[in-house]
Amino acid sequence: MIPEFEAISSKTKILITGGAGYIGSHVVKTFGEAGYEVLTYDNLSTGNKWSVLYGELIVADLSDKERLKKTIVKFKPDAIMHFAASIVVPESVSSPLKYYQNNTVNTLNLLETMMACGTRNFIFSSTAAVYGIPDTMSVNESAPMNPINPYGSSKMMAEKVLRDMHLADNDFNYVSLRYFNVAGADGVGRIGEAYKESTHLITRALKTAKGEFEKLQVFGTDYPTSDGTCIRDYIHVDDIAYAHILALEYLLDKGTSEVFNCGYGHGYSVREVVAAAKKVTSIDFEVEETGRREGDPSILIADNTKIKQGLNWKPKYDDLEYIIKTAWKWENSYREKYS
Ligand code: UDP
Repeated sequence: MIPEFEAISSKTKILITGGAGYIGSHVVKTFGEAGYEVLTYDNLSTGNKWSVLYGELIVADLSDKERLKKTIVKFKPDAIMHFAASIVVPESVSSPLKYYQNNTVNTLNLLETMMACGTRNFIFSSTAAVYGIPDTMSVNESAPMNPINPYGSSKMMAEKVLRDMHLADNDFNYVSLRYFNVAGADGVGRIGEAYKESTHLITRALKTAKGEFEKLQVFGTDYPTSDGTCIRDYIHVDDIAYAHILALEYLLDKGTSEVFNCGYGHGYSVREVVAAAKKVTSIDFEVEETGRREGDPSILIADNTKIKQGLNWKPKYDDLEYIIKTAWKWENSYREKYS
């Protein structure tokens, strides 16, 4: 329960697309616990029914405009949060149309339908991938968007649409949250990342510790960083979820459209993450240092000044070991529970 929002939010209704996925399900949980009324709209292509801990689940696709319209007309949401998306960078390179369809065109469908139905508040799941390879060590929101893969481009295009919609109609307001490296899981192990083929470092390290992979590959040791491996800003998924409550209350309080980075403002190298994963699991899993993975910037760290000031965001889980511990708990429980 998040007491400070309980009283004012008990009747606020939120439609959450992609609420059965990794980040979306933590948002559903956080809003449900805080007393908001949530409705999940998800086609279950990568999400899971069991991960929706609060509210009803509508199993449908965003390309189904009729279903979408019926859902919005019936539920009358005060705001829509849009998580449903494809997120695997290498896949976006080999199947760009899938990414522009799912991430850009489906966002347009959603926006068009919500405008027709009278909903005017929108929160968008964006990504640090819109920056591409930033010029600065930590990147702020005014840095140019120069994505280097179709995944980042598909999200950037949606952000541009949002900006133009707001310019055309000031009653329409959105918050776009650019996530850095989201990781970790629910503290009591109910939900977590459950993608069949996760490419993310922490998940792959833990699956290697579990014996699901023979070894963990470290992609590149010749980057211009202190230990030669890439540095990322890993952020616990529950801190991301809480940022959505703040973003929503900001919009409902007549806040105007904004873009915010979501990250802790400091990072860890791949080697540091591997060492922390070995410590948390007490397993000395095999690591193989290989060549660079295409398209990886050497350092990606959020300048989070804007979200801290603009939304008064105070992250609670800025602790790599805690992030890995929650992910490890999840890795060890969900297969037994759900597969
Ligand atoms: N990485 C790695 N081995 C893996 C997965 C990732 O060395 O099995 C590296 C990757 O090259 C990047 C960092 O870990 O430098 C974070 O990658 P991830 O895919 O988790 O997130 P990204 O930053 O690409 O969104």
